[in-house]
Amino acid sequence: MKTKEKLSMVLPAYNESGNIEMAARQLEALCCREELDYELIFVNDGSKDTTWEEICEVSKNNPHIKGICFSRNFGKEAAITAGLECASGDGVVVMDCDLQHPPDVIPSMIQLWRQGYEIIEGVKTNRGKESGWHRIAADGFYRILSQAMGMDMKNASDFKLLDRKVVDVIRSIPEKSRFFRELSTWVGFRSATVNFEVQERMNGSSKWSTGALIGYAIGNLAVCTCLPMQFATICGGLSLFAAMIVCIFMVVQMKQRMAVDYLEMILFCVLLIGGMILVGLGIVGYYIGKIYNEVRGRPSYIVSSKTK
Ligand code: UDP
Ligand code: MG
Repeated sequence: MKTKEKLSMVLPAYNESGNIEMAARQLEALCCREELDYELIFVNDGSKDTTWEEICEVSKNNPHIKGICFSRNFGKEAAITAGLECASGDGVVVMDCDLQHPPDVIPSMIQLWRQGYEIIEGVKTNRGKESGWHRIAADGFYRILSQAMGMDMKNASDFKLLDRKVVDVIRSIPEKSRFFRELSTWVGFRSATVNFEVQERMNGSSKWSTGALIGYAIGNLAVCTCLPMQFATICGGLSLFAAMIVCIFMVVQMKQRMAVDYLEMILFCVLLIGGMILVGLGIVGYYIGKIYNEVRGRPSYIVSSKTK
C-alpha cells in the first residue's frame, strides 16, 4: 500500500440544504486526523432546495471537494453509482450526507481496511426514529430480502468502506437497476462489519414516505430475486393436486357404480386447466428469470487475488 492512501467519500444528497457544509467540515477534519489524502464527492440528486448552491460553495477553492449535479431526481442508487464512477481513491466510503451515518465510525472502518479487509460494512444497532407503519413495512421488506439473499439484511445499511478492488468490480458490472446494499454483498471479498448507532438527522426530514419505501422495496426485491415469479408454479401445483383428489374421488364413485355429479366434473376440469395454465406461466417465468440474469450481465465469478 502507498505511504498515504487516498480515501474518497461519496455522499448522495437530495434536498439536504443545511447539511452540506457541516458534513464537509466534519469529514475534512476526520481525514486530516487520520492523515489521509481524501476527496469528498457530493452527488446532488436533483434537489429542489439550495443543496447544489451549498455544494458549489464548499467546493469553491477546495480541490478536495467535488460536486456532481443530476438533471433531475434519479434516486439514491443512481447517485451512489455516479459517485463510485467519479471516485479515484484507494478506498471509497459511501454514506448519507445528513450525518445519520456517524463519521466517528469511519476510523474503525479505516483500521479494518488497513488490516486488509476489502469491504467494511456499517451495521445498524438501532433503526433511528421510524413511525409504526414505516417500521412494519421495513420489517416485512427486510424479512423477504434476507430470505431471498440467504443472509440477514435487517441491520444492513449503505454505510460502507469499499477497497478500490471492490469498487472496480462493481463499476465493471453493467447492470442499471442496482441495489447497492445487495450488490456490494453479492460481490463477496474479505469483509468485516462495524456497528453504528443511527444518529438523529442534522436538518430536514427523511425523503422516504411509507408509499415511496414500499415502491423502493418492491423494485429492489425484483432486482434481487426472481422467486416471486415461481408463485404461479406453486399455485398451479396446488391446483393440480386438488384436481387429482377430485379425480380420485370421481373414480371411487364410478367403481361403486354411483353417478358422478356433473359439478364434480366441472370442478375437476377447472382445477386441471387452471393448474396447467399456472404451471405453464411458472415455466415461462423461470425462463424470464434466466434471461434477466443474462441481461444484467453479472460475471459468473469474481477473482479476488492470484499468485504470480
Ligand atoms: N437521497 C438521494 N436521493 C433520493 C433520496 C435520498 O440521494 O431520492 C439521499 C439523501 O440525501 C440522504 C440519503 O440518500 O443522503 C438517505 O436518505 P434519507 O436520509 O432521506 O433516508 P433515511 O435516512 O430516512 O433512510
Ligand atoms: Mg437519513
